[in-house]
Amino acid sequence: MMSEKEVIIIGGGAAGLAAAVACKQKGIEELLLIERGGYLGGILNQCIHDGFGLEKFHISLAGPEYAQRYIEQLLDQEIPYLLNSMVVSLTPQKEVVVMGSNGLQHFQAKVVILAMGCRERTRGAIGIPGARPSGIYTAGVAQELINLKDYMVGEKIVILGSGDIGLIMARRLTLEGAEVITVAEKLPYSSGLPRNINQCLYDFNIPLLLNHTVVDIEGNGRLSGVTIAQLGKRGGIIPGSKQKIACDTLLLSVGLIPENELSLEAGILLDPITGGPQVDQRGQTSLPGIFACGNVLQVHDIVDNVSLEAEYIVEGVAEYLRGKPRKECNIKVELEKGLRYVVPQTLNSLKDTLFSFRVNQPGEKKALIFHDGEKVIKKKSFPRVNPAEMIRVKLSSRELEDLKSLKVRLV
Ligand SMILES: Cc1cc2nc3c(=O)[nH]c(=O)nc-3n(C[C@H](O)[C@H](O)[C@H](O)COP(=O)(O)OP(=O)(O)OC[C@H]3O[C@@H](n4cnc5c(N)ncnc54)[C@H](O)[C@@H]3O)c2cc1C
Repeated sequence: MMSEKEVIIIGGGAAGLAAAVACKQKGIEELLLIERGGYLGGILNQCIHDGFGLEKFHISLAGPEYAQRYIEQLLDQEIPYLLNSMVVSLTPQKEVVVMGSNGLQHFQAKVVILAMGCRERTRGAIGIPGARPSGIYTAGVAQELINLKDYMVGEKIVILGSGDIGLIMARRLTLEGAEVITVAEKLPYSSGLPRNINQCLYDFNIPLLLNHTVVDIEGNGRLSGVTIAQLGKRGGIIPGSKQKIACDTLLLSVGLIPENELSLEAGILLDPITGGPQVDQRGQTSLPGIFACGNVLQVHDIVDNVSLEAEYIVEGVAEYLRGKPRKECNIKVELEKGLRYVVPQTLNSLKDTLFSFRVNQPGEKKALIFHDGEKVIKKKSFPRVNPAEMIRVKLSSRELEDLKSLKVRLV
């Protein structure tokens, strides 16, 4: 039998929780949050370090504490949710099939909010050659094993990739008594937040080798060593730069992939750069009534931005459910030099719009310029920019009025 809901939220992490609470505050009653895991909070549960919530709550919380603030609101407001229940199918008509302990359940929703988060890139995804011993983990899996399962992954560690999870794990492993020999990063700059480079590497004298990667893996049964090499400007190995490092564990922190298998099945258009759905400024995907927020839409730098994005798109959800008439427009946001991506990718109504950008390279004294042909709509300056940090800029409906096109560049 098909059960009907106004809004179904897929995923009970930071994004799904914030979206559920915001929906309830907007008066949406027929609501259901569906989580495949055994608890709410998503990835936050394994992030036992602090630093969460500085923007949202002006206090430094651990990941589980941050999640708990939303879980309590969900429970207080009696918002229904399912655990151990995985959405296995989503159609463009917003039919949702869930696999749980009671077998298959079918739902018909007026709105679906995608909040499925992301997964880590693995060794296979980056194709490191060499032997296939044990002792190679993605950084998030190592974090889960140590923090939630009380299992220490190794003693002598090399970390490949300087994403935030790898940096945080360098500190965590050191505090647990392991020796983190080095963090190798193939780019000429770290892909983690500056605060994490300082607090997780430099405070513990862990070297960061930029322009370096792992080119070979050795070990029979257990990992016994890796070879790292320096990369030249075009990405090739610099002759004579190879060095062997004896270690028993390699952690990979080489990027996250938004979990969009359901979105693809439903026929939602994805952005090849973000890996998330293409959305308009209400967070609506290419399929009417299906919205997206959090890491499934774009990999976020800090969780506060995930919660704020979820709350922001729920305004669009409420307008959609009310059938509120919109002043239509049809504009694709075009990026010029210096910018890697933008969310939202399209504007189709006149409303205040929050844009998120990532830059291509670190830089100082930069400005974002929004323009419509010759006319500059907005200029915003930044003392420094960094690919690890999202840039968020709001344009008001007044600034967007009478727009014929919208281009953005970084100068
Ligand atoms: C290791 C790590 C360290 C971090 N450290 C920091 C930090 O120090 N400070 C900071 O501010 N931010 C940090 N972040 C970022 C922040 O925690 C995340 O951006 C945020 O928690 C992501 O929330 P989300 O809801 O989008 O995704 P998630 O938390 O991943 O939640 C997605 C949920 O969807 C569920 N799901 C997926 N598919 C389905 C399906 N088909 N059916 C049902 N459920 C499904 C998953 O089980 C999961 O619970 C860190 C992130 C990671 C991964």
